[in-house]
Amino acid sequence: MNTKNITYYSTNLKSEHVTFSEALLKGLAPDGGLYMPSSIPLLDLTELERLKDQSYPEIAHKVLTKLLGNEISSEDLYPLCTDAYDFEVPLEHVTERKYILRLDQGPTASFKDFAARMMSRLMQYFISKNKRNLTILTATSGDTGSAVASAYYGLDNIKVIILFPLEEVSAMQRKQMTTLGKNITVVGIDGKFDDCQRLVKTAFTDNSLNHLPLSSANSINTGRLLPQTVYYFYAWSRLRKNADEKIIFSVPSGNFGNLMGGLIAHRMGLPVKRFVVSTNANGEVPEFLGTGIYKPIEPSVNCISSAMNVGHPSNLARIVALYGGVMDQNGKIMKVPDMELLRENIAGISISDSDTMKTIKDCFNTFGILLEPHGAVAWKGLTEYLKDFRESSEQLSVSLETAHPAKFPDEIMNITGVNPDLPISLSGLKNKNESYSRIENSYEKLKEILLQSQ
Ligand SMILES: *Cc1c(COP(=O)(O)O)cnc(C)c1O
Repeated sequence: MNTKNITYYSTNLKSEHVTFSEALLKGLAPDGGLYMPSSIPLLDLTELERLKDQSYPEIAHKVLTKLLGNEISSEDLYPLCTDAYDFEVPLEHVTERKYILRLDQGPTASFKDFAARMMSRLMQYFISKNKRNLTILTATSGDTGSAVASAYYGLDNIKVIILFPLEEVSAMQRKQMTTLGKNITVVGIDGKFDDCQRLVKTAFTDNSLNHLPLSSANSINTGRLLPQTVYYFYAWSRLRKNADEKIIFSVPSGNFGNLMGGLIAHRMGLPVKRFVVSTNANGEVPEFLGTGIYKPIEPSVNCISSAMNVGHPSNLARIVALYGGVMDQNGKIMKVPDMELLRENIAGISISDSDTMKTIKDCFNTFGILLEPHGAVAWKGLTEYLKDFRESSEQLSVSLETAHPAKFPDEIMNITGVNPDLPISLSGLKNKNESYSRIENSYEKLKEILLQSQ
């Protein structure tokens, strides 16, 4: 194999370069920055051409082999891809050459499954090579916890401990975590999400726990980013007329990890005409693209597309880095990126809640297609963009749907009058037994659980 290993640098530029496996197991760089690949490998035209005949796991294998180099052999990577991606990835035709990519068929009905399932398997691969164990400790306000719990369920040598605020998650979200068992321990905290996060942070800085192999499954981990390049290649390969046809993607964005995956795919040679980044009322990135001035929104605005209520997206530092700039973790621009190229590649649009609801209704009435709030933000963003830029009806474009409508039954019922069918992954939950402990908001109590878990 002639692929050289790619090193990963920190967006704050003050930490050493590391290998992918080090970046994966560390999570955050020691200087507080995010890891980024120092070079991005290309797929040539022949490789792009061939994707149309390959399955989703095969495309994942192709793309990730390029990105991971020699750190994992091609033979070892393949079974991880077939195991992680054993569900459908439907492309739903809407009208003309416009499609919806449904990333909602994974085990927790959220697009976060794509990243979490691959990251968990890569972590297991690298720790088992070194005969290590791992305890993943994570706090959740809902969806991340269920995707992580499901992705790590049953993996050898990895224990998972998830903290959630007792009163702040829906029964469905809680059941997605608490009905698994085995290596997944779930702890309800009598407090708020911020309390859960504080407990996790305290554990990570507690020297008396240094003997525990604690790690995180944080959303900013490079291991969650790379798998999110794959579905962009997949969607394009299924729809393009020829191997250089350019596509437009609309990405519903909160922390901008999903978009970051797309931007890396583009750098790898995927023919993308433009990314439309569609946000809810937390429109700080569309504003930044327009004015060049970045102002975090604090506190973030509460919108019905709740997973996108982010006023200061952590992945923005990566986007700025990809375009030659430097941004610190507070959002201060230390070096201005190539704004001209950024605007050429990305168009930003912010969508209100009332437009989101109207879009869910219109899309259902006109096309018979059921969207949930996040996917509706993306679809509205796409249609506005295509109109503003007078794109031809022959332009190929894809809007991403990131969750299943059945996760928002009340909103969907109110807006459309229909009750979305539960996907199989969610419908079995009702009759399953839950198991979780409840503790007061106290670090000593959590510490007992951590020590007992070993
Ligand atoms: C997390 C999430 C998003 C936002 O994705 P980012 O990568 O943070 O931009 C959008 N939709 C749903 C349903 C999500 O769970």
